[in-house]
Amino acid sequence: MTVKAGVVAVQGDVSEHAAAVRRAAEAHGETAEVVEIRTSGLVPDCDILLLPGGESTTISRLLEREGIDAEIRDHVAAGKPVLATCAGLIVASTDANDERVDTLDILDVTVERNAFGRQKDSFEAPLSVAGLDDPFHAVFIRAPLIGEVGDGDDSRTDADGVEVLAEWDGRPVAVRDGPVVGTSFHPELTDDARLHRLAFFDRTPA
Ligand code: GLN
Repeated sequence: MTVKAGVVAVQGDVSEHAAAVRRAAEAHGETAEVVEIRTSGLVPDCDILLLPGGESTTISRLLEREGIDAEIRDHVAAGKPVLATCAGLIVASTDANDERVDTLDILDVTVERNAFGRQKDSFEAPLSVAGLDDPFHAVFIRAPLIGEVGDGDDSRTDADGVEVLAEWDGRPVAVRDGPVVGTSFHPELTDDARLHRLAFFDRTPA
């Protein structure tokens, strides 16, 4: 089967995410056809979506200006999966604690931008991730911290609350809210496509 994968391409690691989703699909006996999303009208044809990192203020402004934000919300409301990484997670959240970021409200967590950054700008760490047998090598770059995690009263996605998939230092760094998976780190920066598999191909129905 061919899966149409939209990579929001206003900023960030677009080609790395495209490569990772292709590898993840292949490992699943499927093929991913990748579409770069810079304008409205493309998201409705996509089966799965990736929201890369970058600068969340810029990404949110462009999504709104192009009318892509409403299309992403509709995609999630239809139960179709999204993987949102780093700045993508910030944009996907319910509150970024920054008025310059108009969040999509598709992932029921609040975030704090650049919160690890004050302690340690960028770092790498082996992470235990629910659903993966071996640790995942996680690359954090000016990463956001996840604050409040939704309690399950989530009309946006119809999901039963937010599942914490991984923690670092006692704080969630990977979460799932129904069809939406968000990570504080950058799973596209290694050759390991297991996080993309988990988000798109190995997911249990919400
Ligand atoms: N610091 C960025 C922001 O707050 C996120 C960094 C990243 O995506 N690597 O938008």
